[in-house]
Amino acid sequence: MLDVLIIGSGGAGLSSALSAKEEGSTVIVVGKNHPTTSQTSMAQGGINSALGNVIPDSIEAHIRDTINSSHGLCDESMVRLMCEDAPMTIEWLESLGVPFDRTDESKVAQRRLGGASSKRACYAQDYTGLKILHTLYDSCLKNGIEMVEEYMLLNLIVEKKVVQGATFLNITTGEVLEIRAKATIIATGGYSSIYKNFTTNADDSTGDGIASVLRAGGEVSDIEFVQFHPTALRGSAILISESARGEGGYLVNSKGERFVDELLTRDILARAITLQIESGEDVFLDIRHLGEEKILKLMPQEVHLCKLHEGIDPAFELIPIKPVAHYTMGGIDVNQALEVSGLKNCYAVGECSNAKIHGANRLGGNSLLEIVSMGRLAGINASKTPLELDYITNTTQLERDREYIDGLFEEYPWEINFYNTQNELGEKFYKYAGIIRDNNQLNNFLNELRVIKASIDNMGIGDKQKKNNSNLVDFLQFINVLEIGEVLLDSAIVRDESRGAHYKEAFPNEERLYQAHSVYWIEDEVLQHRFEKVKSDEN
Ligand SMILES: Cc1cc2nc3c(=O)[nH]c(=O)nc-3n(C[C@H](O)[C@H](O)[C@H](O)COP(=O)(O)OP(=O)(O)OC[C@H]3O[C@@H](n4cnc5c(N)ncnc54)[C@H](O)[C@@H]3O)c2cc1C
Repeated sequence: MLDVLIIGSGGAGLSSALSAKEEGSTVIVVGKNHPTTSQTSMAQGGINSALGNVIPDSIEAHIRDTINSSHGLCDESMVRLMCEDAPMTIEWLESLGVPFDRTDESKVAQRRLGGASSKRACYAQDYTGLKILHTLYDSCLKNGIEMVEEYMLLNLIVEKKVVQGATFLNITTGEVLEIRAKATIIATGGYSSIYKNFTTNADDSTGDGIASVLRAGGEVSDIEFVQFHPTALRGSAILISESARGEGGYLVNSKGERFVDELLTRDILARAITLQIESGEDVFLDIRHLGEEKILKLMPQEVHLCKLHEGIDPAFELIPIKPVAHYTMGGIDVNQALEVSGLKNCYAVGECSNAKIHGANRLGGNSLLEIVSMGRLAGINASKTPLELDYITNTTQLERDREYIDGLFEEYPWEINFYNTQNELGEKFYKYAGIIRDNNQLNNFLNELRVIKASIDNMGIGDKQKKNNSNLVDFLQFINVLEIGEVLLDSAIVRDESRGAHYKEAFPNEERLYQAHSVYWIEDEVLQHRFEKVKSDEN
């Protein structure tokens, strides 16, 4: 039997594949796309490690900055584990061949990102994620790791709470099949695409792995915490990375006034920009004073994106921006060994997981670090998973999923165009569950979402071809959006306070009562909730 099944071929999935293979496990990595096209490939700014290569820095300062930014919602020992491992992580990536930029002394170059007390982000121009992902992928191929492309996770196969693998839609053929393994690692990325058209993420960041855990009886947590990046291009929502501000860029309004310290954390900046926009101002990023040569050397991708998508040259013109959904702090609830709460033989890592590292607000540069550092840990831990004695091989899940997909092809009507609904929902999530939240709006929207969820059987698919059916994939993703969206809205409603990225005008302060993780699971088909006290080093 296969030792480790890894679902998701982004940075987290590929890092865990390499370490599981090093441990001697047999490994298969399955992804719904090609391995080189995940969100990881889009990361621009850098990956954090307190190397102190440019100005003095320390691991303690990295830990302190991360804890401060979490607003009391992190597990301090997980933060310590990751920050202490960061120098080894960079060394490992270098040993695989990641071409980081260099200082004049040939050390790895570092830049400052928001909320960091030093220049801590190691980078490869503004293509950091792309270079890391492609290097990891090369290494997986060199190590003979089997990669399966265009398989979409449908459901986990669970027997007595033990995960035995998962069912997949083979997108190219339309078949539904299963892959079984002793241990399963979920590395399927975040759910920012709930905010469709108002996110820096690709449309397929629909939290599929998170929804599959909910359906399987596992737990998810802190789903209300969504990070809005302050500087996306106004028209296209494409990201202009924090490196632009890290290198000295200004935020200005229509009057040309700077209105906030540009290197504060993203939650504060996103709110400051939103208030400017609500007062009738346009907001811009201004990097003209850095000079064309420096801009082209350090941010070639961003220059290209500005020209292509906004029709402006940032070396000579202001960049029009707005904040949009960028990163999801909540996800599959895991313990310190990255095991999924409520399930056995199952791990989650990367943006799909909530390892309590980022809390209420992630620091720029800490996600790439998490996916590689924790990815490697997940691979090691999964490799040690024993085969459960009561492992059984009934095929109920496979049959159920085949029946459902057959039904979509043959029976379910196509009465409502879910694409329109999804676009409308994206805008409503941005308006009502976005940067500034209000209970009345959240409650009304939750009721509306539940009505839509109840009508899902009338939506279905119009394209009935089995092979390469993107209509089917989009529909399955939309179902996941509805399931996670419900949790997002409910968790935003019950948290009557403001903390990090979650801000309610009526409750503007952090409340001790809510220094807790909001945990959700499904029991007897009903969504359940509890608040769980934050683990601190004292308890
Ligand atoms: C534009 C942009 C810039 C960023 N810049 C930075 C930065 O500079 N520094 C930083 O630290 N972070 C940055 N981030 C955040 C960081 O890139 C991501 O959080 C991180 O790469 C997530 O990695 P991951 O492996 O967890 O998920 P992903 O890279 O999203 O990979 C998820 C994988 O799961 C697969 N998958 C999803 N659903 C299914 C399914 N149903 N079945 C099978 N496979 C599935 C996908 O195909 C993909 O292979 C940025 C993010 C964006 C969008």
